[in-house]
Amino acid sequence: MADAALHCRRASAFCLQAGIHRSIDVRIAVIGAGPAGLTAAYQLAKAGQTVVVFEAGKSVGGMARSFDLWGQRVDLGPHRFFSKDPRVNSLWLEVIGRDYRMVERQTRILYGDRLYEYPLRAGNVLANMGPVEAAACLLSYGAARIAPPRATGPDATFEDWVVSRFGRRLFEMFFKSYSEKLWGLSCKELNADFAAQRIKSFSLAQALLSAIGLSRQKHRTLADVFAYPLNGNGEVYERMARAVTELGGDVRLNTPVKRVIVKDKAACGVELSDGSSLAFDHVISTMPLTTMVKGLSDIPEAVTAATNALTYRNTIIVYLRVSRPDSFSDQWLYVHSPRLLTGRITHFGNWVPEIRRRQPGAILALEYWCNNEDAIWSEDEATLVARARREMAETGLVTDQEILEGSVVRIPRCYPVYSRDYKSHLAPVVAFLREHRNLWAIGRYGSFKYNNQDHSILMGLLTAEAILGHAEHDLWNVNADDEYQESSVITAEGLQVETRPENAAT
Ligand SMILES: Cc1cc2nc3c(=O)[nH]c(=O)nc-3n(C[C@H](O)[C@H](O)[C@H](O)COP(=O)(O)OP(=O)(O)OC[C@H]3O[C@@H](n4cnc5c(N)ncnc54)[C@H](O)[C@@H]3O)c2cc1C
Repeated sequence: MADAALHCRRASAFCLQAGIHRSIDVRIAVIGAGPAGLTAAYQLAKAGQTVVVFEAGKSVGGMARSFDLWGQRVDLGPHRFFSKDPRVNSLWLEVIGRDYRMVERQTRILYGDRLYEYPLRAGNVLANMGPVEAAACLLSYGAARIAPPRATGPDATFEDWVVSRFGRRLFEMFFKSYSEKLWGLSCKELNADFAAQRIKSFSLAQALLSAIGLSRQKHRTLADVFAYPLNGNGEVYERMARAVTELGGDVRLNTPVKRVIVKDKAACGVELSDGSSLAFDHVISTMPLTTMVKGLSDIPEAVTAATNALTYRNTIIVYLRVSRPDSFSDQWLYVHSPRLLTGRITHFGNWVPEIRRRQPGAILALEYWCNNEDAIWSEDEATLVARARREMAETGLVTDQEILEGSVVRIPRCYPVYSRDYKSHLAPVVAFLREHRNLWAIGRYGSFKYNNQDHSILMGLLTAEAILGHAEHDLWNVNADDEYQESSVITAEGLQVETRPENAAT
């Protein structure tokens, strides 16, 4: 606490020396009004601190925002809320109150012309694929159990991780094509971290035992049910932003930050893209880590090189309005067919009835992942909509005549790429940032962690605690895959404490 106060006083003095205008009210700058930035701002504003949130975009919520389209409410692709952390769940409930529903998760994989349950359930996989393919999968699963590939250590690959747990045949059917579409990399070039975070293990052996009555498979997991606000996922962040303003803070939309100003290794202000500078005692940054670091002063060459080696993947979402409300019953489908470029299709009609606002038909969203230099990233809207129409009709779930219109949203840098060696590039960047006081790099692209919104909320919470001096946290060690001994989930009645949950899958 004393240290934090001392740093604040020093930062103020540096800013005065640097000739930056200082308003006595302004203490904490938050760059980005997504889940991480708004959670920090909300907690700090409640604690009586004055915060200013600078948001480059025209609305709040970041990648977790909702917006109106064709009279309905939609998100940027599928956004379920699920957390194992009681603090995150409590905060979420504090904001949303009772304006949410519990949703039974149904998400399947479209592979060939069949739909397989996801997370994979061994019984369903075996029943769906027929005896010959099932036998081949069992043999390959058995071989991987007897002699698994090495799948641990910092440079373990995604492919080895999955093959060691599922066998090669299932890897090729259910993981390879989707992961390569998502990341644009061979699974041999992907770090196993991504798998450990996002894939729930399963046991084919267990399924066989339960099929012959020797074991009972546990079917329900925490990931089977999730919470969803009645007015779309982004409602949580819209309410947080309103609360920040009501508590005396400021949320400035359409205000991109160009760089964080540091002096003698302490953050002391921000420079906006209009060239103006403002002084602060702390800067919380959720802007892309690479852009933020490049804007700092006195960057060693090795850090610049490491920063340049960190890459992000973009998403294009094509929304289609369709006349048919019941093309499929899942909240979203994973598309594994290599024939189709899209990797995931969301059906917003299958979340909560309120977001449809009694409109006829349904809105679907097809996701396409790409790099800046890929031709698809610069395709015009008409071309993107035409492809999505074609691919949607090819799935056989709707006909071309049932597709009424399309609309496109592009999301740059939405996935930090966990390439095989990303940790070796991230380490010097983190070490350099650790030398800086009062600068908090958090969030998904803000800290280069493959966060879900709950992880970003947790980072925002912990940052506020650290700034307020209530606790010391090493935010670089907040792991997106943290397990909590005592954990809790949101239920229709509110919070419920659970003991050790199983891994969630997204
Ligand atoms: C397609 C898709 C599906 C997802 N599904 C789920 C899901 O089911 N469940 C789940 O929990 N999570 C999901 N996520 C992840 C979730 O959206 C993110 O984890 C969350 O939004 C990250 O919050 P954040 O605050 O860290 O970053 P962001 O949401 O990216 O917010 C960062 C904000 O900073 C702003 N910004 C950037 N640069 C600047 C600048 N220079 N100056 C000012 N502002 C700036 C941006 O405009 C943005 O508003 C999904 C994400 C995507 C893309």
